[in-house]
Amino acid sequence: MALLSVRNLTKTYPNGTRALRGVSFDVEEGEFLVVIGLSGSGKSTLLRCLNLLQEPTSGEVHFEGQKISALQKSEQVRSVRRRMGMIFQHFNLIPRQSVLKNVLMGCLGKKKTWQSLLGLFSAQEKQSALENLKLVGISDKAYLRADSMSGGQKQRVAIARALMQNPVLLLADEPVSALDPATCHVVMNYLKKIQKEMGITVIANLHFLDLVRQYATRVIALRDGEIVFTGRPGEITEEWFKRIYGEEAYALAQNTP
Ligand code: ADP
Repeated sequence: MALLSVRNLTKTYPNGTRALRGVSFDVEEGEFLVVIGLSGSGKSTLLRCLNLLQEPTSGEVHFEGQKISALQKSEQVRSVRRRMGMIFQHFNLIPRQSVLKNVLMGCLGKKKTWQSLLGLFSAQEKQSALENLKLVGISDKAYLRADSMSGGQKQRVAIARALMQNPVLLLADEPVSALDPATCHVVMNYLKKIQKEMGITVIANLHFLDLVRQYATRVIALRDGEIVFTGRPGEITEEWFKRIYGEEAYALAQNTP
């Protein structure tokens, strides 16, 4: 059984934009699936439908054998979200709080409301937060403010925060789009480490292709809300590049030194 199964997913926004037009695919446990496509092709909408931040217009999402696309009760939605970590392009940290506190925020989904309101965390949770910071190589920054971190460090804090839920699936929405090329690799390498060593399945949206070959086990390409390619990274030929990104982008890529 696939970890995640998406069938005929569509999403039409209230203004009429058809962001997803019948998307179907499966994700097996342990994959590092990368979703590529031009800006506006529907990548972010897809990820948000997977973790129930957006309600699909039609179609189904099954996760760990459970149909999650039609869950209504907030308790059920919360319980699904606990199994999926998410990281974002702009990190979504609380700037004035410490790195450690930001990571601890990752266990709020598991706590009772009064504990969350009081910001109460156990010694065990703090220990686990420090271990997750160590895993992404920044345990020495635990007591510094989040806004004093560089972009790459902020994304590593966000990864550590996502790991606090012990997710089986990590969704990464353009995780390196705000970072310089060298830092991209640092962050991508940590995501790869999490997939390989911890066995956490990763689905990441990436705007451009260059990182895909190094990190993805499989690729899905979206164009105008439809899947136009699915396969291994090595199977993306120049012809496919043109189909995914258009002739214009292909010509630009050829002219880039
Ligand atoms: P990507 O992540 O590939 O850039 P998105 O999923 O963000 O693509 O967007 C897909 C399409 O849906 C785009 O045309 C975008 O303008 C539109 N869109 C995204 N979010 C909304 C929204 N909240 N309301 C209306 N249209 C939206």
